[in-house]
Amino acid sequence: MLPFPEQLIHKELLINSYGYHLRKKFGCRVSKVNVDAGFTCPNRDGSKGTGGCIYCNNSSFSPRETLPEIPLEMQIKAGIAYHKKRLGSEKFIVYFQKYTNTYGPTDHLEEIYSRALEHPDVIGISVGTRPDSICDEAIELLARIAKKHYVCLELGLQSMDDTILSSINRGHTVNDFLDAVNMVSGRGFEICVHLIHGFPGETADDFLKTAGAISAMPINSIKLHQLHAVKGTLLAEMYLRGEFVPLTLEEYITNAADFLELLNPEISIQRLYGSAPLEICIAPRWGVKNNSMWFAVLNELKKRGSCQGIRHP
Ligand code: SF4
Repeated sequence: MLPFPEQLIHKELLINSYGYHLRKKFGCRVSKVNVDAGFTCPNRDGSKGTGGCIYCNNSSFSPRETLPEIPLEMQIKAGIAYHKKRLGSEKFIVYFQKYTNTYGPTDHLEEIYSRALEHPDVIGISVGTRPDSICDEAIELLARIAKKHYVCLELGLQSMDDTILSSINRGHTVNDFLDAVNMVSGRGFEICVHLIHGFPGETADDFLKTAGAISAMPINSIKLHQLHAVKGTLLAEMYLRGEFVPLTLEEYITNAADFLELLNPEISIQRLYGSAPLEICIAPRWGVKNNSMWFAVLNELKKRGSCQGIRHP
């Protein structure tokens, strides 16, 4: 018997999954369609930093079908066809994923977001960005769009430890993130936070403290994945020099399940694992597909007779 109402925690998954959240909200299966709208990142072009985060190779987290040269409408059409066929999804959220999708003049953002919303099956947008790259005008724009459509702002935090943020060359601090949450909360759109576990120097306890901190904030969903080194990154070089030792699969599953137990059950879970194309993935190479990994963490909760939020105060 779950300690939470079924409306909150899916009784088989044992978590508040984002898919479950969207189904309750829209009454049908909703999928996210990734697009590349040609943005860059201030942590690469010199305005915040250069070189980017030490693990960043955007081709490791973007589908191959999304390229900025392909018109947005074609990317959306292809993504919708794929998800309709594969999952039978009926409605779609266009996900501006690659790089920093609020980094540009507001009229350009308005044009890009509006084009995404023109498709009749698109119910909203999800916009990935950095906590230090969201200005008042962009927030006003998102708040305006959120009056008629679903909007989720995805903030890349990754770690709540400034020493780690500095060592991975994030170019922003925990306070930048807290300021961003203050600025964007209560504006009628959802907030998602991106987290990574397994940074050099990070203990399991350090990581688990993040669950408590996030739980106390007005955050609607999270995405979590393991730190992995992909070709062409500083992290890959560190791995080859023995300076980055990835988590084992068992460690990650245990710590992710612990994290979920501590997390506020009101916060939905968008992702529990990250993958990279095999040809560029250096380490860890667990050989587990996204779906299996998602269920490996959920099975760990099941094995414990536990669920998301069971240890949330
Ligand atoms: S903020 Fe995102 S896009 Fe920019 S360098 Fe870091 S991981 Fe890459």
